[in-house]
Amino acid sequence: MSGPGSQVRVSDLAAQLRTHVEYDRELGVLGYPRGATASPPRFAAAPATPPDPAATVPPNAVRSAPSAPAPSPRPGAAPRELFVPPGLADTRSLDELRSFIGDCRRCKLAGHRTQIVFGVGNPRARLVFAGEAPGRDEDLKGEPFVGRAGQLLTEIITKGMKLRREDVYIANVIKCRPPENRNPEPDEVQCCEPFLVRQLELIKPEVIVALGKFAVQTLLGTKEPITRLRGRWHDYHGIPLMPTFHPAYLLRNPADKRLVWEDIQKVMKALGIGVAGK
Ligand code: URA
Repeated sequence: MSGPGSQVRVSDLAAQLRTHVEYDRELGVLGYPRGATASPPRFAAAPATPPDPAATVPPNAVRSAPSAPAPSPRPGAAPRELFVPPGLADTRSLDELRSFIGDCRRCKLAGHRTQIVFGVGNPRARLVFAGEAPGRDEDLKGEPFVGRAGQLLTEIITKGMKLRREDVYIANVIKCRPPENRNPEPDEVQCCEPFLVRQLELIKPEVIVALGKFAVQTLLGTKEPITRLRGRWHDYHGIPLMPTFHPAYLLRNPADKRLVWEDIQKVMKALGIGVAGK
C-alpha cells in the first residue's frame, strides 16, 4: 500500500527501528539472525467488557493457573515491542522480573532516584492499580503510593472496597522518581513501560484501574482527556481497564471523590465484590 499516510507510518517505524538498533548496540548486540520472527504478542484477546461477576472468586482467593497468552496487538498502537529489552519476556515471576531490571541505568532518571520503586502487593492479584511515577515519599521508601496521595488510595482500597492493600497489586508506569516530580518524558516511558507490561503479563489481573491522566493516556495510547476516558471500560491487551482520577488530583479537588467512587463501584461490580444495594 502507498500514499502519504503509509509514508508517515514507514518513516515513524524507521525512526523507532533506528532507536532500537542503537539501544541494542549499547547492550552489545552486533547483529540479528536472518528470518527471525517477532516475539508473540503479550495478552490474550478479550472484549473490553468487565468480567462476568458470576464467574468471579473472592479477591484474595488463590486462582488456578491462567491460560497461555494469545495474540492481541492493540489497534493503532505503536510497535512497542521494538523497545522491549531482550530477555524481558523470559522472566517467569515478579522476583525474576525485579532481578532483570537490576540497578537500572536504561534512562536518565537513574541519576536522580534513591531507589527503584518496583511495585507491591499480591503477585496473583485480581486487581492492579497503575499510577504514574514515584514521588518523594515513594522514592525514599521504595514502595508505590505511600505519601498523601497513597494514603487516599489506601483508604479507597480498605474503606471503600473493603480489601486489604496486600490483596491488590500497586505499581507505576515509571519506576524511578522524576526530578521535582516533573512529568515523565517519552524516552523514559519507552524504557520503563515494558516493565509494567511484563508485571501485568505475569500477574494477569482481571481488572486494571489506571490512576490519572498520565497512566491512563500512556496505557491506552491516547491523548483523549481523562474527563472523557474515566468511568468507562477500556481494553488493555484483553484486560478490562477502568480509568479514574489520580488520588493526588482528589486531594486538590475533593468534590470529585464522588466520581472516583462511581468508577470504583463499577470495578467492584465487575469483580463480584458488589456494593450493598447495587
Ligand atoms: N503518584 C503516583 O502516580 N505513584 C506513586 O507511587 C505515588 C504518587
